[in-house]
Amino acid sequence: MVMQSINPATNELLAEFDTWDDATLDEVMTQVSYGFADWSQLTPLEDRCLLLRRLADVLRDDQDLLAELITLEMGKLYTEAMAEVEKCAVLCEFYADHADEMLADELVETDASKSYVAYLPLGVILGVMPWNYPFWQVMRFAVPAVTAGNLAVLKHASNVPQCALALEEVFRKAGYPDGIFTNLMITSSQVEQVIRHPAVQGVALTGSETAGRKVASIAGYELKKTVLELGGSDAFIVLENANMKAAIQGALKGRFQNMGQSCIAAKRFILDNYISEDFIADFKTAIEEHFVAGDPMDKNTTLAPMARQDLLDELHDQVMRSVELGAELVCGGYQLDREGCYYAPTILKNITSNMPAFNEEFFGPVAIVLKASEPAHALGLANATDFGLAGSVWSDDLATAESIAIGMQSGASFVNSISFSDPRMPFGGIKNSGYGRELSAEGLREFVNIKSVWIK
Ligand code: NDP
Repeated sequence: MVMQSINPATNELLAEFDTWDDATLDEVMTQVSYGFADWSQLTPLEDRCLLLRRLADVLRDDQDLLAELITLEMGKLYTEAMAEVEKCAVLCEFYADHADEMLADELVETDASKSYVAYLPLGVILGVMPWNYPFWQVMRFAVPAVTAGNLAVLKHASNVPQCALALEEVFRKAGYPDGIFTNLMITSSQVEQVIRHPAVQGVALTGSETAGRKVASIAGYELKKTVLELGGSDAFIVLENANMKAAIQGALKGRFQNMGQSCIAAKRFILDNYISEDFIADFKTAIEEHFVAGDPMDKNTTLAPMARQDLLDELHDQVMRSVELGAELVCGGYQLDREGCYYAPTILKNITSNMPAFNEEFFGPVAIVLKASEPAHALGLANATDFGLAGSVWSDDLATAESIAIGMQSGASFVNSISFSDPRMPFGGIKNSGYGRELSAEGLREFVNIKSVWIK
């Protein structure tokens, strides 16, 4: 099979790559697995942390080139791509600073002369990763995995093969020995072969629910641990007493950054009845004033393309199916009449529970508006989804906002801020958004053998 790298701003074919056959994949996996003993036992954590600092340096040295590649291959604004690469560098420094305390033996008082918990590497960890943050998502899985002493192999999304190769090169340039981080040029149907390889001890997947279920079922049969970071349909609750200006700015960024293609984007705007029509009008005005479509490399552009035409078509179909059932378009709802995968920023209101807009994840620049009669109703609507990734509450009444934040069925809740990930805090979901955590000490310890050692 051939993987194509296509610029979604122009539909230009940038590059093509042949995928590996099964025999090549098997050979690479076997070769990689030979490196585990050296890396896990002979390379002290101190040295692994030094490499992390060099990884951060390489990311910053090559930041503009890497950002350009991200923008060319999946379409996000160049400024957003620059920020993504910088965030990866910060992640490396975070674990370089803290991995030693997070992985240190923990003494436990028992009736032994010495007993403790040790955090030991497991083997090869497979990352199945998406295209929306083609550097960040990969680094979020790979950096803690290799720092804990594991080896990482990557099955990246097939529309970002150049980013996948660039990531491998970044590790090489930083001085990592071959085989510590390996890009596999394979199709999604070959992921099963990787999971079943005896050296593979865990799988981290970020992507759709469908891909998550498929991968987790194979890994489950093989008794290999999975961490799944799947979709979300995050609530953005605005209460009557919220600071409207801040909430509108939050809505603009929370829904439309990365062209709405983010698992923790604000997707369902749950507005108190009292302020809902004003909010919708101001939100529409803010959209009209803010967005200018253009080349995502140009710093004056604020409306970038979506990553692929099929993703745009799927989103548009969800919008149209909702409209057929009675949803009303406040703005948008069409593909721009220009080259590339540009979708007009859209607001949908008059939503009922039988619509795709109520039940499905909208992975693109479409805001779904729901109305609530009181805070408890808003919380009920926020939780009326199969997903449970994150969510935010906007209000000057911090006590009420915090109680709603706690009541949200989600892996993270934010008050008066949009949702975001931070290396210092665990990241992940509940319900159909997946399980397990990335980032922080919790993320570092997902793929380790938490081992009890007891000495009489
Ligand atoms: P997918 O979930 O299909 O792709 C994510 C990764 O999983 C890719 O590497 C993909 O490979 C791989 N994959 C897909 N199917 C399988 C499978 N059966 N077995 C093993 N690996 C598989 O996402 P899409 O790109 O198709 O996007 C579709 C939807 O997924 C979005 O609309 C959104 O809802 C969700 N999504 C969520 C993301 C998140 O951050 N949580 C990120 C991206 C998408 P390949 O590219 O070769 O198919």
